[in-house]
Amino acid sequence: MSWLRNRQAFEKEEAQRLAPVAVKSAESRGRLVAEPEHPYRTAFQRDRDRIVHSRAFRRLEYKTQVFVYHEDDHYRNRLTHTLEGAQIARTIARALRLNEELAEAVALVHDVGHTPFGHAGERVLAELMRDDGGFDHNRQTLRTVDWLEERYPGFRGLNLTQETREGILKHGAPWSHPVSLPPLGAQRCLEGQAADVADEIAYTNHDLDDGLRSKLLTLDMLDDVRLWGEARRHVDARLGLGGASESVRRSQTIIALINGLVTDVVETTAARLAGAGAESVDAVRAHSETLLAFSDPVERDKLELKRFLLENLYQHPQVLHMTRRAEVVVGDLYRVFRGHAGLLPETVRQRFADEGEARAVADYVAGMTDRFATAEHEKHVGAA
Ligand code: MG
Repeated sequence: MSWLRNRQAFEKEEAQRLAPVAVKSAESRGRLVAEPEHPYRTAFQRDRDRIVHSRAFRRLEYKTQVFVYHEDDHYRNRLTHTLEGAQIARTIARALRLNEELAEAVALVHDVGHTPFGHAGERVLAELMRDDGGFDHNRQTLRTVDWLEERYPGFRGLNLTQETREGILKHGAPWSHPVSLPPLGAQRCLEGQAADVADEIAYTNHDLDDGLRSKLLTLDMLDDVRLWGEARRHVDARLGLGGASESVRRSQTIIALINGLVTDVVETTAARLAGAGAESVDAVRAHSETLLAFSDPVERDKLELKRFLLENLYQHPQVLHMTRRAEVVVGDLYRVFRGHAGLLPETVRQRFADEGEARAVADYVAGMTDRFATAEHEKHVGAA
């Protein structure tokens, strides 16, 4: 018996182990440019590895989630957010016997199209690009992996499988894209849906955690938030009055919250799959709604928690102050580069002829980290 297992062995194992509704790597619809398969990595393992080795992935480390990276060493940035989301996606996929590597690949890549400073930067670029084809981060994620990464001699982009690309492209795309878009059904495969839900579970909980850490949120404010209250009562009952510090109780509450949400989503989804009689990936794609979902009461409570975060954290004056500064930086940089193309690297100017000046500049600014954008702004405009 050989100690080494090859790709075909892994593919056979997938066929036996995974659910009928899971995407099997041997049945992938392939890549835009045909390539020989790897001897011992499946198609989705290879996608995941290409994503982790990309430049855009490394830049996530210096991109803001909610709090700017230099305010405190313990806040999440887009990289740590992505890693937390990817682990949750794997847990959901594994529990439902879905393709863990595909869910992981989609989760790892989902945020690489974000501009510096998150949604604030995105809003400004969308406005500035209104007459030049628009801008949004999902589209930019697909553009980054399909077109902007340059690592291979035979094609542009990472040449990911159609399934990973389908996971990125959440909805149809009423915009032009340099290569053909992945085929889309009414819904995405369950692995794509898992990555989406995992993203939401990750950011809701770590924003809560970072919000408390920053003291912009306090425990009193959370009293009436049902999901938090339930998790907290559970933790307090288990730990008793003494014995655990407030910071341990807070961490335990977040852990209980994540566990509760993940458990609800896998149990609800298992029941929905049974109820819908879904027997194949195509049945999942053709279904009228997403089959991977929370139960109604948990969905309602999750929306309450998200509303709480919107009102008390994302719209907190201190966060809004950073948001406005971010808008100024991104807007100024785009305008400066449009007015003075000589300030751009040669590689960006070379794209003007084929892709248009507006799109080339938007790609350049969108790809920047917060750190680089701030430095460029100071250099060309002055401190914001
Ligand atoms: Mg995200």
